[in-house]
Amino acid sequence: MTEGSKKQVILMRGIGVSSGIAIGKAYLIDTGTVEPPSYCHLDDSSVDQEIVRFKNALKESIEQLKRIKKKMEKDGKGKEHIRIIDAHLMILRDQMLINDTVKVIKEEKVNAEWALRTVLRDLMEFFERIDDEYLKQRSSDIEHIVNRVLINLTGKKHETISDIKEPSVVVAHDLAPTDTAQMVKGMVLGFLTDVGGRTSHTAIMAKSLEIPAVVGLENVTRRVKTGDTVIVDGTTGTVIINPSPSVINVYEKRKERYENYGRALHFYKDLPSETTDKRRLRLMGNIEMINEITSLLDHGAEGIGLYRTEFLYLNRKDFPTEEEHFRAYKQVADRMFPHPVIIRTLDIGVDKLPVSMEIPKETNPALGLRAIRFCLKRPDLFKTQLRAMLRASVSGNMKIMFPMISGIEELRDAKAILEEAKDDLKREGIPFDPDVEVGVMIEVPSAAIIADLIVREVDFISIGTNDLLQYSLAIDRVNEHVAYLYEPFHPAVLRIIKSVVDAAHGAGISAGVCGEMAGEPEYAIILLGFGIDQLSMNALSILRVKRLIRSVSFADARKMCDTILGFSTAKEVEGYIASRMANIYEEELWI
Ligand code: PEP
Ligand code: MG
Repeated sequence: MTEGSKKQVILMRGIGVSSGIAIGKAYLIDTGTVEPPSYCHLDDSSVDQEIVRFKNALKESIEQLKRIKKKMEKDGKGKEHIRIIDAHLMILRDQMLINDTVKVIKEEKVNAEWALRTVLRDLMEFFERIDDEYLKQRSSDIEHIVNRVLINLTGKKHETISDIKEPSVVVAHDLAPTDTAQMVKGMVLGFLTDVGGRTSHTAIMAKSLEIPAVVGLENVTRRVKTGDTVIVDGTTGTVIINPSPSVINVYEKRKERYENYGRALHFYKDLPSETTDKRRLRLMGNIEMINEITSLLDHGAEGIGLYRTEFLYLNRKDFPTEEEHFRAYKQVADRMFPHPVIIRTLDIGVDKLPVSMEIPKETNPALGLRAIRFCLKRPDLFKTQLRAMLRASVSGNMKIMFPMISGIEELRDAKAILEEAKDDLKREGIPFDPDVEVGVMIEVPSAAIIADLIVREVDFISIGTNDLLQYSLAIDRVNEHVAYLYEPFHPAVLRIIKSVVDAAHGAGISAGVCGEMAGEPEYAIILLGFGIDQLSMNALSILRVKRLIRSVSFADARKMCDTILGFSTAKEVEGYIASRMANIYEEELWI
């Protein structure tokens, strides 16, 4: 620690997206961002040396890929993944790529980076012109592999999360869900990123892995070096680089308090989630991957309110087969039985795009061909998933949910494909639950406005506040620059949620919330007051929210909601709720 204290202490504030405190050595990861190479003219005497430098970078890239391949084989990764590495090795050994680059270095007397980029540009232009879809797809492999050589030319290190050998705080410009999926609790103590917002999927994954994380730090990758001591306070969004021993001491105590608080919450695990005047609320969990179920059950979840199935599509080049879908869904349904499990159909989005999907680049991906829109465009893929869901529904505790519904036609189209899948299964004599409940996420303002019409055609609704806020407040949920506008207390948001809950109850169906708002006590108390029936959140939040629910009466929560609906600004709502929360918990922290 003395070493850290000599270095400059840096305090940074970002967006705390996964609570808890981590203290450890930083490990900077370059997730493959390559600066555009600068042009450098060579004199005659340096040309041969530059060719040697290029060939060494090629050799290094080949060695790296061979090492990755070996590790994959050792870890028992599928043939499909190994074939990709083989294809990349072939590209690296391709004589045309090598000879053309050497030719440009020689003839134009330019640095290897520039020459390689020139050759890559020509190759890309060539690929753009060809008609063959398969060959077109190979162009992204070439780009990827050229970037690897470019990084090796600049002397930067290629690191991935699975390379981490000792417990560290991961620091990266950005982490894709595919990166976070490789994180192992214990090795990754916490993580920090330059970009990202509160409800990005990277943030959601951090929570489900119970790893403290701060995102949206803008330039943390430039301010911290591998080996620096860092403190991550994922609750407040504070990051301290090279803290003094006395600051470390303070945070170690805080960490201990936080962990004790977590343990103390376990007292609530088997208690019913009901208010002091006996209103019961079902508290459920959100999962991305099956291995999160253990933690959900440990935290007393009474079901799964959102199973984000898109994670089945990540980290692979092909699509999951019906059997793969079925195995996953059946396992989830069985492990949670008799609790309900709401499985959401594929919801690809801007920050969780599987590599298997060749989606043309869109100017506004959050408004583009995503979620149900994509599924309706690809009924073949949609039906594969629906058939698997139906087959798994024999367990009797499964419900199917469509994401991003924006109007009735879309809902009817989706339901029609579900009916076709049912008819097919019937014809084939394959069993399923004919009464499987079908619901929708209300996360697009147009759906919220016509919620009274939608609720007539579904069995339940679940409000996706992450996207509902994104679309109704016009804030990109993954953009750190507008993260300050993510404001669940905004009177517009509160009115929308209330009207949707009222619409559902008017039709006699249940209304839930499965966005991040559900897991924060200060928002959960409002949702309770609005009469919500179920809240679905990450495992860690369940007991905090249960403690809140058991500390208040439904009657009081309703009165609070009447008061806040009279406020005109988010600040007023926030101030009022903060003072009420302080009353409820008296001297204790409620975060
Ligand atoms: C939401 O939008 O609130 C939601 C729960 O879905 P996702 O975060 O997966 O978009
Ligand atoms: Mg959503």
